Amino acid sequence: ALAAMTRAFTEEGLESPQRDARFLLQGLLGIDGAQLLSASSRPLGTAAEIVSDGVNRRLAHEPVSRILGRREFYGRMFTVTPDVLDPRPDTEAVIDLALDIIRSSGLSGRPLRIADVGTGSGILISTLLAELPDATGVATDVSLAALDVARGNAERLGVAGRIAFVATSGLAGCAGPFDLLVSNPPYISGAEIAGLEREVKDFDPLLALDGGVDGLDVYREIARNALELQCPLRVILEVGSTQADAVESLFKAVGARPIGRRLDLGGHTRAVAMEIH
Ligand code: GLN
Repeated sequence: ALAAMTRAFTEEGLESPQRDARFLLQGLLGIDGAQLLSASSRPLGTAAEIVSDGVNRRLAHEPVSRILGRREFYGRMFTVTPDVLDPRPDTEAVIDLALDIIRSSGLSGRPLRIADVGTGSGILISTLLAELPDATGVATDVSLAALDVARGNAERLGVAGRIAFVATSGLAGCAGPFDLLVSNPPYISGAEIAGLEREVKDFDPLLALDGGVDGLDVYREIARNALELQCPLRVILEVGSTQADAVESLFKAVGARPIGRRLDLGGHTRAVAMEIH
């Protein structure tokens, strides 16, 4: 089954056919790598139906994580549904930068208040609260369906009791003060959306991708929110691979100063940090 899947995925031109075949087969059958090797020589029975459904969905360019309904982020497993952006490894740069800044500003061990704007699956706030046992947080999203997914993920990680989930745009209506604001906002520009790969365009929610005409609309909203909070605040944001300078400029315009950057796996600046007030 594994060899046939790899072949079909290769023929379809998928980016990582071998890796996808292995993860998908393991995930669909609920087995680990060693079991997979011994199972691949035996007939699979009813498992064959599960596998062929999974294979057909991948051949229609649905990401493996969406077929399985789960994805690992920063070493923890998260449920993903059609209502949330599929967690990306690059987004771990936001966590790394946030933890760096907490350490270097002497904030470790403090009862930090953290806001996550556009929480989606909740990977940012849930990961941070799992890493920071004394912190509490607020997670916002305009999508009620996404907030349900985020709440479920927070419950599974045992951090839901420290998070308030709020249906709102940006931080509208959320009372500060906060020590940290994190966000991986929608940042794809109107012109770029049509050119996205099928895995993204056909399966991630448009709401989670669309950053307006120049891709920077939600950064502008977050900069306004940060200014309005009127408390000393560190803002850590994921940015598109060419957006770091533009996003820092938007924040400089409201009196913030850049305090850090972080690269992604491809060597692009993927996270920026600013301090305001
Ligand atoms: N915060 C979530 C993530 O980082 C959702 C981001 C989004 O939907 N743009 O995956």
